[in-house]
Amino acid sequence: MAIALKSRTILVVDDVPVNIHLLNTYLTAEGYDVVSAADGKSALQIARASQPDVILLDVMMPELNGFEVCKILKKDHKTKFIPVIMVTALNEEEDKIKGMDSGAHDYLSKPFNKRDLLARVRAALRVVVLHEELQQKVIELQKAKEELRQLSITDGLTGLYNYRHFKEQLQQELNRAIRHDLSVSLIMLDIDHFKHYNDKNGHPAGDELLKNLARIFRDNVRNIDLAARYGGEEFSLVLIETNKGAAKIVAEKMRKLIEHQKFECGEKQPLGKVTISTGVATFPEDGKEFDDLVHVADQRLYLAKQAGRNTVFAES
Ligand code: GH3
Ligand code: MG
Ligand code: MG
Repeated sequence: MAIALKSRTILVVDDVPVNIHLLNTYLTAEGYDVVSAADGKSALQIARASQPDVILLDVMMPELNGFEVCKILKKDHKTKFIPVIMVTALNEEEDKIKGMDSGAHDYLSKPFNKRDLLARVRAALRVVVLHEELQQKVIELQKAKEELRQLSITDGLTGLYNYRHFKEQLQQELNRAIRHDLSVSLIMLDIDHFKHYNDKNGHPAGDELLKNLARIFRDNVRNIDLAARYGGEEFSLVLIETNKGAAKIVAEKMRKLIEHQKFECGEKQPLGKVTISTGVATFPEDGKEFDDLVHVADQRLYLAKQAGRNTVFAES
């Protein structure tokens, strides 16, 4: 705290040069950096530009007086949190109240008492430090909030988006597609004989396989598309502005990528390798609502399974 208080900048505003000089002497002797202004207008400019930590503001000045300057400072989001110490003559009791009412943090009486001055500056700086700590906490809170949001839309095992986010995004894309007359395609992908894989190699090996497949899906869709874990050993891809023909090509590409990839213990699978079956549904021809598209893609996935697996179905 002591170190933080020392390397601070104080703006001294006074139309009488000897006052500036005196305050400057006291403050620099304490290790503060001092900037000064001889009138209200330049005080406002300097306050905005150099963001001092505390402002010592004389009340009686020609043109803009201290109250007016203080009010402007407190309205400006760039300067509103800088504590202002009004500098008033001892007999100006009314001015002290007026100063506090115009947003001042404290007041200092003329003629200056050095210890009084420094104590008030230190008190103002404690407020500055508290405000900085608060800002730091706000930043940390925002970061934590964002991390929490990421967690809430991510599947814990694979790192892909989860079902909730998939549903939200597909619904949003469907709305956009309706407004702008675009296509959207959905691909559902399901691992063939995954139960067999688990049974033969153990659940942890099954988890590894899920992670590896997820990586392949994520790495092979465009940035604007979305790869999600639909649940269990089922995945879904949302392809933005993509018609049936293009979606079929993507589904076929995924099928081939998996078929040709050497996975641990793949040869023990009933088809001699790890494979996937996929069903494709496209907006608008296959359905206009989320539920309809998922239903159609699921039906086609079922057809792909019936047809012997390791295949793509895009029409019924
Ligand atoms: P099909 O070719 O018809 O799709 O057969 P399948 O065996 O892949 O399908 P089935 O629905 O019979 O079995 C799916 C299996 O996926 C059963 C379930 O235990 C397993 N599974 C679901 N979620 C996870 C998971 O997070 N980790 C692991 N290791 N297995 C999972
Ligand atoms: Mg399966
Ligand atoms: Mg399944």
